[in-house]
Amino acid sequence: MSCTFCKIARGVASAYVVYESERIIAFLDKYPVTRGHTLVCPRDHYVTIMETPDNLLYDLIRVVKAVARAQVAALGARGVRVVQNNGSAAGQVIFHLHFHVIPFYEGGRVGRTELSHEEGVEVSAILSRELGKIMPRS
Ligand SMILES: [Zn+2]
Repeated sequence: MSCTFCKIARGVASAYVVYESERIIAFLDKYPVTRGHTLVCPRDHYVTIMETPDNLLYDLIRVVKAVARAQVAALGARGVRVVQNNGSAAGQVIFHLHFHVIPFYEGGRVGRTELSHEEGVEVSAILSRELGKIMPRS
C-alpha cells in the first residue's frame, strides 16, 4: 500500500479529518492554499473521475457541498473553489481521486504553506463540528 490517501483512509497515516463515513473521508490538505482547504476522497482507490462509479461520485459531491457550506458557515469564507484534477497533465499529484474544496476570504492569506499542528487541530475541530450538524454520520 503505497498510496498516501489509502493510508489515510485506512487510518495507517494520520490526517486532520473533518468528516468520515463508510465510503468517504474528508481531511485538511497538508499544504493548504487557504485556511480550511479540505480534500474529499473515497476510501476505495480510484485514480480519476472517469473510472469512479456514478453512485460514489454522487455521495462525494454531497460531501463536497457540505464542506463548502461548513467553510462558509463556520470559517466565514466568502467564496469556495472546488477543483478536481485527473492525470498528471492536468496537475494531479496524488493518484487517488480527490476533490479540493478551497475556501476564500476577504483579504485572506493565499499560498501553499505546510499546515501547522495548531491550525490543523483548530480548523478540523471547527469544520468537524459544523459538518456534524449538516451531514449525519454513518
Ligand atoms: Zn489510494
